[in-house]
Amino acid sequence: MRMLIVDDDEINRKLLQALVKPFGQIDLAENGLEAVARFNGAQELGEPYEVVFLDIMMPQMNGHDCLQKIRGIELDRGLAKGDGAKVVMVTALGDARNVMSAFSAGAEYYLVKPIQQRKLFELMAEMGFQPNPMT
Ligand SMILES: [Mg+2]
Repeated sequence: MRMLIVDDDEINRKLLQALVKPFGQIDLAENGLEAVARFNGAQELGEPYEVVFLDIMMPQMNGHDCLQKIRGIELDRGLAKGDGAKVVMVTALGDARNVMSAFSAGAEYYLVKPIQQRKLFELMAEMGFQPNPMT
């Protein structure tokens, strides 16, 4: 299972990476532009990301614009709504209101920073993913 973590803050990226490691293979992106490039590349390889963790506040391309691009790529590839990646908006408390517009743009879930392992694991289970105890 492939996942993409998108956050401009290195500590946030590393923290989330450590938490979701038991669920599969992880790629990291520092901003929306890099995320879109990676997302596109994974689609072209035929190994698409199943989960994308997306920070909202980022320079160059924010999480909202990135989400729109991601859904656009899926649409271009003929993926039906709901058949694409699960997108989890990762938000600071201050931008929690932003989450609402993210849902209308096609995000499925959100997590509030700092991320709690229990919440994250509940969310992964809700998406149908279980941690691999061997990792
Ligand atoms: Mg940020």
